Amino acid sequence: MFSDKDISHFTSLETPFYYYDLVLLQKTLSNCADAAKLYNFHVHYAMKANFNQKVLQHIKATGFGADCVSGGEVSKAIEIGFDKSQVVFAGVGKSDKEINNALDHDIFCFNVESIQELEVINELAAAKGKTARVAIRINPNVDAHTHHNITTGLDENKFGINSWDLPLCADTLRKCASLEFIGIHFHIGSQITNLDVYKNLCVRVNEFAEWFEERGFAVKVLNVGGGLGIDYHNPDQQIPDFTSYFKIFNDFLNVRPNQEVHFELGRALVGQSSSLISKVLYVKNGKKKNFIILDAGMTELMRPALYQAYHQIENISKAKLSSAVKYDVVGPICESTDCFGKEVELPETLRGDLIALRSTGAYGEVMASHYNLRENIQSVYSGE
Ligand SMILES: *Cc1c(COP(=O)(O)O)cnc(C)c1O
Repeated sequence: MFSDKDISHFTSLETPFYYYDLVLLQKTLSNCADAAKLYNFHVHYAMKANFNQKVLQHIKATGFGADCVSGGEVSKAIEIGFDKSQVVFAGVGKSDKEINNALDHDIFCFNVESIQELEVINELAAAKGKTARVAIRINPNVDAHTHHNITTGLDENKFGINSWDLPLCADTLRKCASLEFIGIHFHIGSQITNLDVYKNLCVRVNEFAEWFEERGFAVKVLNVGGGLGIDYHNPDQQIPDFTSYFKIFNDFLNVRPNQEVHFELGRALVGQSSSLISKVLYVKNGKKKNFIILDAGMTELMRPALYQAYHQIENISKAKLSSAVKYDVVGPICESTDCFGKEVELPETLRGDLIALRSTGAYGEVMASHYNLRENIQSVYSGE
């Protein structure tokens, strides 16, 4: 919901732009931190969801760690001031350069996704005279019941080590003198809204933890990843239910004394705190369709084109009650998938109206591209 003051401020700005509500962001972060503290759970923020400088500073100040998926993110986390003992590094394709960079920074842990990667990290750590802490990312074959393009924990997905490779994985760990095994890691997908999925995950985590313990490996860290979804259909109902989410893990995970439970939340922490504000360039009323053509496109917000993601679309220049018309809301890019919504009911819309695409805080600004030689757009903040 935007106030009249917000909207009149927006009118004076060059569009499109990302608008960040830093008060809401901080509320969300504090709410999550409080809920996690109840159970002594550790939260690492999945940086890929949004690495906007101000967003990262708020997250760091809240005391969360950083979950990185590239060398660039590891460097950025350190530069922002995340404690190196709270930086973890996942990813199926870590290059030698990225591994060396992370070793130089003495990060907390590599979440390792293949047996070959274990051998490479061992070699590179040995060459530096270091010991690398590793957790094994296991593919638990648990269905996240989310869009197939953002599912990561099924046998057919590229992520993690499959259960049938674990005996070889254990042998490799025993062989590698420059590795220290600290635990197991999972991340089964994103935008998970059915919390029962996490019960199934807990059952698998318990089994795998026991498997390692039985073979003499002390499992100090249970890292259950992230994926908690947000309600894209109710952008004003803004803070996800972190309490119920953490409670599931508290109820269903067998946590031994001295074991830590780690989470890697991305979307749930940042998703609702931003909107993409755009201006209507043209309105085309056809026989079959009415089109609203925005000055923002898939180059600014790729999620709809990439995986048919839904973002609520609002005409914030017009009162909601005026007579509704159905429009396809599209961007200016020369691709037919450059479409934010079909048959969207909006008040009758005119050139120059401001359109808000809601819930764009996660995987929005960070996925922007220069396709069509489009320029970077500005970010605007409230509540600094
Ligand atoms: C992307 C990612 C996350 C965060 O996912 P969200 O759906 O944004 O919570 C966590 N862990 C890993 C390894 C990831 O790749």
